[in-house]
Amino acid sequence: MGNIARESPLWVKTSLAAAIGLGLEPGRFYRNAEATCLNLLLCYEKGCAASCAYCGLGRNRAAAGEKTFIRVKWPRYALEEILQKLRERPRSFRRICVSMITHPAALKDTVTIISFLRRVTDLPISVLVTPTVMRGSGGFLTLLAAGADHVGVAVDAATDTLFDALRGKGVKGPHRWERYWRAVAEAVEVFGRGRVGIHLIVGLGETEEDCVRVMDRARAMGAVTHLFSFYPEAGSLLADRPQPSVERYRRVQMARYLIDNGHARYGEMRFDDGGRILSYGVDPEPFVRSGEPFMTSGCPGRDGRVACNRPFANERAGRPFRNYPFAPEPEDIETIRSQFKPGGESRDDDEESEKKDPLRGTFGEGL
Ligand code: SF4
Repeated sequence: MGNIARESPLWVKTSLAAAIGLGLEPGRFYRNAEATCLNLLLCYEKGCAASCAYCGLGRNRAAAGEKTFIRVKWPRYALEEILQKLRERPRSFRRICVSMITHPAALKDTVTIISFLRRVTDLPISVLVTPTVMRGSGGFLTLLAAGADHVGVAVDAATDTLFDALRGKGVKGPHRWERYWRAVAEAVEVFGRGRVGIHLIVGLGETEEDCVRVMDRARAMGAVTHLFSFYPEAGSLLADRPQPSVERYRRVQMARYLIDNGHARYGEMRFDDGGRILSYGVDPEPFVRSGEPFMTSGCPGRDGRVACNRPFANERAGRPFRNYPFAPEPEDIETIRSQFKPGGESRDDDEESEKKDPLRGTFGEGL
């Protein structure tokens, strides 16, 4: 490659889990969890122009060198190498996702990458768009024409105030709440209802009711919600913020499942004065028993089941799963049952805090 910059569209990053699935990195995950979505991330020498307070890619981040994104290492590869692996292992994944970062060439380069992927695979392709660099509905039409079938919009924060503080003016960032929601509407218009998902992170300072309200808003617009549990990124502005308690996360997971699957709406749920979920308007017990609400929520494969399972994107190996990347076993259901307490206590400074984690930094994620 000589002096040519190792940047998109000829280079991309991929999650460590996906790199293992491609055979590009050695290792396996705790309980043999396998990534079923090949997540690809655009990369540029200048990095991401945004400065989101919780993100490992933001320009405000203190740590130098290869950065992490949603907490895990993202190694960089020539796109051609990834295409070659896909030719050799056509059935290793059930979906591919191309994630933009905030860069003026992101839309153009995403289209180029999708067209290269389309030459070697018929796997369904999602795009996690950055609305700030999209050009209205026209941008979504271009992605659809290139071969994408689902869109993700990483709204991430549950309220406009939090969004502004963590992604917008509060961090001198370029993102705007209204622009993100306009993108959700444009994406639904172009791709259709049920083919657009918002990303929502629990634990950025919102209440459970804030989460439910925003998930209900997405549902009313024809989108679904893909849920993440906040995990502090070293060097980011929120590096010292603890994770939300697992009990809190379980309550929000249940609400998401009920809303996205049409079992309940925000107006039927009850909350205490602190915005904690007290009841759902339906009996959650059969859903607890199924384990489904606690599995990773993400874009589906051709069979309609979640394909984007993101193993260990929100937790460390050996710690309780926040998002189960596979169907929970009977003993997992018992664990979940002890954690799922509508109306129960929820402390945010629980034992999951990285600062109290004696194993921090002693082993990689791909073991
Ligand atoms: S849920 Fe997964 S596949 Fe879908 S947009 Fe988000 S990261 Fe991509």
